[in-house]
Amino acid sequence: MQETSSSRRPGKVWFVGAGPGAPDLITVRGSWLLAEAGAILYTGSLVAETVLQWASADCEVADSKSMDLEQVTAWLLDRAQHHDTVVRLQTGDPTLYGVLAELARPLDAAGVPVGIVPGVSSAMASAAAAGECLTLPEITQTVIFTRLSERTQMPERESLVSLAAHGCTLCIFLSIERIEAVVENLLTAGWTAEAPVVVVHKATWPNEERVLRGTLTDIAARCREARVDRQALILVSPALGARAQTAVKPSKLYDAAFPRRFRPAREGG
Ligand code: SAH
Repeated sequence: MQETSSSRRPGKVWFVGAGPGAPDLITVRGSWLLAEAGAILYTGSLVAETVLQWASADCEVADSKSMDLEQVTAWLLDRAQHHDTVVRLQTGDPTLYGVLAELARPLDAAGVPVGIVPGVSSAMASAAAAGECLTLPEITQTVIFTRLSERTQMPERESLVSLAAHGCTLCIFLSIERIEAVVENLLTAGWTAEAPVVVVHKATWPNEERVLRGTLTDIAARCREARVDRQALILVSPALGARAQTAVKPSKLYDAAFPRRFRPAREGG
């Protein structure tokens, strides 16, 4: 609803996770907010435009591709003066690599209420696209979301080599352009040259999703061949390919002898 009076209370700015690409992978809550919004600012370089189909016809829609942080904040602050609901639409989940804190800080300072709606992260979407699990009983129960250091400085203790040394599942964002460096770091951390790697490009984007499989030895060449050099997630995990391994023990979760909070153990089960 539009109102021009300068005395009105500012509207609420919602940081909404658009999901990984497919328009039906935004949450129901997210799609309702898009329908309600008077203004939407989306990250054109990453959010699939088909997600905007949930917006109302008279909504102002803008692409932030060529805006810097200050311009994005200024846009959101300004639109909150005119609309009850303003949406900042971000790819995947807005709390991951989305500069949400930096964008929200000036809104907080200006007394503009802020809400966050989670989204399906590309990490989850990539695992699903590849038909893989990120955890596997007794093999790995930990998932690390990380990236290579580049322009954005990484804390020293979070170097890829030190994280990869855990041997657990790694979902590596924002690093496909430097896949060779990723491979080098993993080998230095102790992963073998035969370790499987899955790269998912544009997970869930209609007609654009690609799943590349390889090992640390050949994944970089496969990415180059397939011209996958952006918007891709790198999955490295001892759980990859588990569905083909019949020797892996079934999860204790389904073991009848394992007492669960809501399911007493069956004797002799
Ligand atoms: N908030 C997002 C991540 C933003 S950072 C999320 O939760 O997914 C951008 C990086 O996310 C890209 O460099 C890429 O590594 C990954 N990414 C985003 N969308 C993707 C998709 N559809 N498929 C594969 N990787 C994707």
